[in-house]
Amino acid sequence: MNITLPEFDVEAFRKQFPILHQPDSHGRQVIYLDNGASAQKPQVVIDKVVEAYTKYYANAYRGVYEFGQRIDDELELTREAVRSLINAERKEEIVFTPGTTASLNMIAQGYGRTVLKPGDEILLTLMEHHANIVPWQIIAEQTGAVIRYLPLTEDGRLDLEQLSDYLTEKTKFVSVTGMSNVLGTIPNIQLLASAAHAVGAIFIVDAAQSMLHEAIDVLETGVDFIVFSGHKFYGPTGVGVLYGRYQHLEQMSPLLGGGHMIDRVFEDHSTWADPPAKFEAGTIPIVQAIALRPAIELVREIGLEAIRAHEQSLLVHAMDALREIPGLKIYGPAPEHKGAIVSFTLEGAHPQDLAFLLNRHGVCVRHGHHCTMLLHDHLGISASVRASFAAYNTHEEVDKLAEAIQAARKRLR
Ligand code: PLP
Repeated sequence: MNITLPEFDVEAFRKQFPILHQPDSHGRQVIYLDNGASAQKPQVVIDKVVEAYTKYYANAYRGVYEFGQRIDDELELTREAVRSLINAERKEEIVFTPGTTASLNMIAQGYGRTVLKPGDEILLTLMEHHANIVPWQIIAEQTGAVIRYLPLTEDGRLDLEQLSDYLTEKTKFVSVTGMSNVLGTIPNIQLLASAAHAVGAIFIVDAAQSMLHEAIDVLETGVDFIVFSGHKFYGPTGVGVLYGRYQHLEQMSPLLGGGHMIDRVFEDHSTWADPPAKFEAGTIPIVQAIALRPAIELVREIGLEAIRAHEQSLLVHAMDALREIPGLKIYGPAPEHKGAIVSFTLEGAHPQDLAFLLNRHGVCVRHGHHCTMLLHDHLGISASVRASFAAYNTHEEVDKLAEAIQAARKRLR
């Protein structure tokens, strides 16, 4: 079947990111392939930050004066934009947080504490980022719950054949990445959500990586919680999202107490405001949240399908080019099972040395364990190099990555 994909003009998209046209101190235009760590910012996002601070800045949800009202309106417009992006039922299900890490800690502590008992199980996978492991380890230690890790297949997909052994009536939470930040693997979220619900478990998606590449429809997939960070989605740093079904948010305890999140404060206790305010104690990242909206609008205007198609073509190109390099090993599954991330090692080269040499060619990649020590242990390596692509990357940049690796290989021999 021939599917016609929407046109994507990469040069027009690139033009919107000023940093991509800014020479570095050597006068070079860098090739930014560290989008998995953080994506660059389009002018509309930068403009929105400046607009808010110069035209109507005030604290949020406090003032009846004009600036205060405008700030509140802008925040609610962003909340609505996030709701619509993930197709949530109500905008009150969208909580602004400092980021993915904070959101996962809020769920583990806020919900885990009310639900988990000794012997209960939390199911994670071997390819989770530490942000989706450590908060669960903390709550497991506090409650006596046990963490289990769904294994991977040889090529780096989730081993679903073993799912029924790992998912039992003891499982209370299943928390899975929407896209591995190392292997690029994209799990079947709908299947996992149904399987988790079949045993009565709560299903959480760490969408820190996947949001940039494809939005998850919460109603269609039936997930209970989704979390992500603005900065990996062409948005500002310091703001993230916690989506939770309203009934879960009602049941969940707040992690932070303070201003704005209360209904009534008595001498010995307090009662909580309704979600989302219940989880937005103190002064939230106001301007960062407001400036997330233009990022969402930009992505939606171009269309996630078009973005994904372009990124997939970069991925296939990168994998083909890198496979040609002697001694280079790519980790993770075939392109049809993953998003635009390629992690690799080069025989005889320490990942840090390789990243250093790539930098000499203006190629920005990440090296190390990428906050996935368990995955690296499983792969039998202590570190790797990661090239992670965004929609503004080009095929020429992929070629330059391959050329830079070839040049580094010669130097390291
Ligand atoms: N989860 C995944 C899959 C990630 O890749 C990252 C960051 O790299 C995080 C969680 C943590 O995100 P943040 O540092 O924005 O909280």
